[in-house]
Amino acid sequence: MLILKEIKKVAKDYLFPIFCLGCGVEGCWVCESCKNRFEVVDSTEFFDKKMSNIKVLFSALQYYEESLLGKAFKIFKYEFSEEVFGLFESIILKYFEIRLEYFKNIDFIIPVPLHPRKYAERGFNQSEMIAQVVGKILNKAVLNDAIYRIRYTKNQARLNKSEREDNIKNAFELNKKYYFSNKVVLLIDDVYTTGATIHECSQLFENKKVKGIYAFTLFRGR
Ligand SMILES: [Zn+2]
Repeated sequence: MLILKEIKKVAKDYLFPIFCLGCGVEGCWVCESCKNRFEVVDSTEFFDKKMSNIKVLFSALQYYEESLLGKAFKIFKYEFSEEVFGLFESIILKYFEIRLEYFKNIDFIIPVPLHPRKYAERGFNQSEMIAQVVGKILNKAVLNDAIYRIRYTKNQARLNKSEREDNIKNAFELNKKYYFSNKVVLLIDDVYTTGATIHECSQLFENKKVKGIYAFTLFRGR
């Protein structure tokens, strides 16, 4: 099985060679020397209680579309590459390793879901994959089915803030098989831009008597 996988990889690399997103050298998405070039920005935001029921949003990286990591993120999100995922995995692990104390009270880790149609198209949910990494390091349960999409929504990328809010409104529902009373929840998404998606998800916990809602996104957009 492993040999077949290797042959497939060699054939794929031959037919579709890949080049470093940072410097163009052939053979990988991000070469070793480029890996040492980017910096992890610590961007943590505290929300006003009146504006949001999310207490703190943690993000590991700033998102710039044209940066090395911005390009790598697109590969991760739309094509998937184990190499690129490995890169983000190590960034996430490092981010949490030095902040474990902030997350010790978390009970559940909940990724923002994709609509089943989008999941079928893509074959994976990048937020679920981020949540798996976080769950592993925090040693906490990841509930992939706690929130589900009840409505197919347009891609948010080209919409402005209020269009995003309208687009995502009532798109989610909470799975009734879970009880969140007195629990601390960590919501996970790939990118925080206007916050429309993650705030919509956090609203689901209104009146559920949760103890606290926190959020982590791999990137913070602008
Ligand atoms: Zn490079």
